[in-house]
Amino acid sequence: MRGAKEQAALLAWAAEKLAAEGAPQAAAMRSKADAALAAYNSLLKDAPAGQGAQARVSLAHAQKKLRVCRSVPAAMGAAPSKAGAGALLCDCDGTLVETERDGHRVSFNRAFKEKGYNCEWSVDLYGELLTTGGGKERMTRYFRDYNPGAWPHPEAPAKDHPEIVALHKLKTSLFMDIVRAGELPLREGVRELLTAARSAGWTIAVCSTSNEAAVSAVVQTLLPEFAPTTRIFAGDCVSKKKPDPEIYNLAARELSLDPRKCVVLEDTNIGLRAGQAAGMSVVVTKSIYSKDEDFSGADLLVDSAENVDFSADITAMLPQMARA
Ligand SMILES: [Mg+2]
Repeated sequence: MRGAKEQAALLAWAAEKLAAEGAPQAAAMRSKADAALAAYNSLLKDAPAGQGAQARVSLAHAQKKLRVCRSVPAAMGAAPSKAGAGALLCDCDGTLVETERDGHRVSFNRAFKEKGYNCEWSVDLYGELLTTGGGKERMTRYFRDYNPGAWPHPEAPAKDHPEIVALHKLKTSLFMDIVRAGELPLREGVRELLTAARSAGWTIAVCSTSNEAAVSAVVQTLLPEFAPTTRIFAGDCVSKKKPDPEIYNLAARELSLDPRKCVVLEDTNIGLRAGQAAGMSVVVTKSIYSKDEDFSGADLLVDSAENVDFSADITAMLPQMARA
């Protein structure tokens, strides 16, 4: 397996380079990563059982990195940002779409039912659980603090418990069925705001603590005209979720931007705190579940993106030197 380990290292290296480099290097790095992945898969077939399992874990990590890195547009660099332009970093759930009540909550309940768990999250209860970021963490808290009787396993619920992981995987699949069916509309004003940002030469990215595949499905289904050039930074690519600023720090680093040139679009208190801690301006568009949260300190607080004027509100948030 020594060779396979080297292949995994090569794949991880290629994926990292893919994220760090713009075109034309990105295309070459993508080819290298594909070649490394193919070679590693080939080696895995002949691996002894124990070593194979360990290698598959490494491969899963490498593949996850590669998926995140694939959001780098192949033609990145072909449309460079205009001088003075910034980056609009959008949260996904509650900000682009009202996914929580009608998407995530419904798919959690469908997953519970399919797996035989005797529990259902009401609209009100889900509002309380949303103060915990991340689906696996949310289920862990529910089974531990709200309904221990519904947890049938001898071990304590934990975000890395196999049953929590399995429930989350099923929930993600059910959620994507809902998204791909087009059942979730974009929030009012989002498309217009992103269009204005793109016209002004701004970089657009989505930064979410949700599963990367689910966030990609939202962008590809509801914002297809933006998908090829929109970077996605999803929950699995950072170790600390919001309100930690890690995901926004990562986005600024990857986009080679001064945080002061990044404007965050969020709908929750934890999202606001994450953006602020990263040293960025934050616009809050209140959502169904977040409307009563504390948004003091937000650079702009509105009911929806419909109430945001890109030129007057967003560009004015960049420091004077950055706009020059
Ligand atoms: Mg949100």
